[in-house]
Amino acid sequence: MSETAKKLCPACQCELTLASAAFPMGSAFAHERFHVDIYRCPQCDRVELFAAQEEEKVTCPVCGATHSPKEKCPICALNTAFSDHTHR
Ligand SMILES: [Zn+2]
Ligand SMILES: [Zn+2]
Repeated sequence: MSETAKKLCPACQCELTLASAAFPMGSAFAHERFHVDIYRCPQCDRVELFAAQEEEKVTCPVCGATHSPKEKCPICALNTAFSDHTHR
């Protein structure tokens, strides 16, 4: 992992901390999802979004969706949640 340029809060110039990396925006059902890194200012709680660094995507062998290796397949997670409910 390479350290990228520091993100500074536009309001108080405090260094933003990474709150969530490669957060998927939009519907889980969409084919192409936009990923953002969410940074938060520890001082004033301002939140800034940055386009996530493009990283290797893994292709889910079950549903064929591509997703970040850091997250579980969101499509399968949803399918599991739904089938869990129908089975019980
Ligand atoms: Zn701030
Ligand atoms: Zn899947």
